[in-house]
Amino acid sequence: MVFLAVSTKLKSFTESVIREMTQLSDQYGAINLSQGMPDFDPSPKLIEAAVEAIRRGSNQYSTTWGHGDLREAVANRVKEYNGIEANPEKNITITCGSTEALAAAVFGLTNPGDRIIITDPFYENYVPDAILAGCEPIYVPLSGRDLMLDEEVLKSAMEKHPKLIVLNTPNNPTGKVVDKEELKLIADLCQEKKTIAITDEIYEYIIYDGKKHVSLASLGGMQEQTVTVGSASKTYSVTGWRVGWAVAEAKLTDALRKVHDYFTICAPAPLQEALVTALNFQSSYYERLKEAYDRKRRMMMKILDEAKLQYQRPEGAYYILVNVPDAFKNDEEFSDYLLKKIGVAVLPASALCHDKDLGRKKVRLAYCKKDTTLQEVRRRFGKFAEKPKSKPAVRTKL
Ligand code: PMP
Repeated sequence: MVFLAVSTKLKSFTESVIREMTQLSDQYGAINLSQGMPDFDPSPKLIEAAVEAIRRGSNQYSTTWGHGDLREAVANRVKEYNGIEANPEKNITITCGSTEALAAAVFGLTNPGDRIIITDPFYENYVPDAILAGCEPIYVPLSGRDLMLDEEVLKSAMEKHPKLIVLNTPNNPTGKVVDKEELKLIADLCQEKKTIAITDEIYEYIIYDGKKHVSLASLGGMQEQTVTVGSASKTYSVTGWRVGWAVAEAKLTDALRKVHDYFTICAPAPLQEALVTALNFQSSYYERLKEAYDRKRRMMMKILDEAKLQYQRPEGAYYILVNVPDAFKNDEEFSDYLLKKIGVAVLPASALCHDKDLGRKKVRLAYCKKDTTLQEVRRRFGKFAEKPKSKPAVRTKL
């Protein structure tokens, strides 16, 4: 057989544990709480708008940086909700999900050898983006008080003059909402070191207990050096539509648009059109979304309380980090038990950590599920309260 070399950059990549857990979930007939994907439909208005857009003939490429009406709708939305002034022509790029917006920003704004600060734990894609762009990730743990950024570690990481810092609020997987004080510290450091911030704000509308979402770009002077990343995926329950956006100053936008053009040409045209309807929803839509997720969060916390499991109360997003009980060696063993004995697939948190010790004692559950699904989770977890000490007979590699 001929030896064909592939990119050495992939050496450090592991298989996505989320995909692996989803496969195991199917295999064991479990309820899949390992992946952050709703099991319910979006608003019927959106489904209609998408079908209508296809029927109307929106079946060819859109303008590379996005359908004009959608860019305008995003500009209005970010002005109203995020306090960001954006010109649809110069500052907004519609991408294939926030996933592509993040990648396009990393590729468009860095040179090989640049450093990128990533908070640990992190959303799966940030690290591969950095590595594929030839950059060096610097990890700053979210391990301080209340999962805040450790100020001293952050300051010393900033001493290395990183090109970028990637921030995610509300945070996956911690459920943490970065508050204004923390954002001000980050803003000061970015301005001092000329570091560009990429803020992943895709859970911006899923926020609890009266907390307010604050966009870094809305803080004095930061609009110039922030790429604000948003997405339709979570806010409108359309993770499969693959439409997201990046909002940034013209120079940064020009750079990431070039990458976006050569990566994907454009996001799905009819779905962009359909999403104009979504972005123009009244504020009552966002209130209802928040209330629905708060109800699901409370159901999930009740299930865990009944099972006598400890967890970190989420402030935002739709994930909950649950402590591994002492009877289990680590997150993988506990996940394995929940999969095989309880019938619920969860994610071992070490899969989302650079410092594996940070995640070894936690698993992540996604509660973006129908109330009926969560009721079934509750029924299954009933078995856990009965027999919390028994361990799985067989261990599957996760
Ligand atoms: N960022 C975070 C923090 C996420 O949790 C996810 C998806 N789970 C994404 C980005 C990707 O979202 P999209 O569907 O917009 O690509």
